[in-house]
Amino acid sequence: MKLTNRLALITGGGRGIGRAIALEFAREGAAVAVAARSVDQVESVAAELRDRFQTKALGVACDVSDGSSVQQMFATVNKFFERAPDILVNNAGIAESAPLVKTTDELWRRIIEVNLSGTFYCTRAALPAMIANGWGRIINVASIAGKTGAPYVAAYSASKHGVVGLTRSVALEVATKGITVNAICPGYVDTDMTSRGIENITLKTKLSAEEALESLKKMSPQNRIITPEEVAALALLLASDEGVGINGQAINVDGGTVVS
Ligand code: NDP
Repeated sequence: MKLTNRLALITGGGRGIGRAIALEFAREGAAVAVAARSVDQVESVAAELRDRFQTKALGVACDVSDGSSVQQMFATVNKFFERAPDILVNNAGIAESAPLVKTTDELWRRIIEVNLSGTFYCTRAALPAMIANGWGRIINVASIAGKTGAPYVAAYSASKHGVVGLTRSVALEVATKGITVNAICPGYVDTDMTSRGIENITLKTKLSAEEALESLKKMSPQNRIITPEEVAALALLLASDEGVGINGQAINVDGGTVVS
């Protein structure tokens, strides 16, 4: 097992990509804390981890866009596990679309605060213990929207470009401390977020849900949607000892949609 004796904290771990990463890490022997605003979802994932993998697991309520909620989450995790996380996965995120001129201050701030500031707050809280221990892994779930632009998603794309920039700079700052910092940049993944995107397309165009899904698939040269498990497989490599040489990277899992 690749993560024996490791403690991982996964934000947005109540469903979708975060849940898949939690399952993969627990399967590899890690103790896992999953955090999100929906307490029922994180508690259900933590119970699943305990049942399936007999690992120590905790669901924690947290709004990552609120710095004090993030501090509280770290305090709760440290107390429960009697140690600080070795691995932080900044996965919590939201996606909403709007033409730029219809992007309100509120929408702009909400997306930047969850996706970018949330990643900053959690990273700042996690690093001191990782530095003291001489070992750490930070994995930021960005997006191919952090590498390229697209119409109607300026706020989301700006937030994810920010996550990629944060990743690159922090990686260099802690490179001598046994810590790696990387981003994963998925294309469309089969989760609730993509289902909501499909619903939105059906409301704003004449496409049916099936046609909307086909249009998303066509964005990939592989003509398909990525599974959460494929993202989790890369997260495991980045979290493991073997991943130590991968640092400051933003790795696409998109079937070749963005070739860079
Ligand atoms: P989901 O909507 O299925 O899950 C998002 C998770 O983030 C939920 O657990 C949600 O829980 C949590 N979350 C949202 N806002 C907050 C908040 N303020 N504080 C704490 N937790 C929060 O989405 P995915 O699994 O698809 O997305 C996970 C990540 O992957 C996101 O960062 C997303 O941008 C990124 N991504 C997704 C892609 C896709 O196609 N699905 C493609 C590329 C990147 P709750 O609402 O209860 O807080």
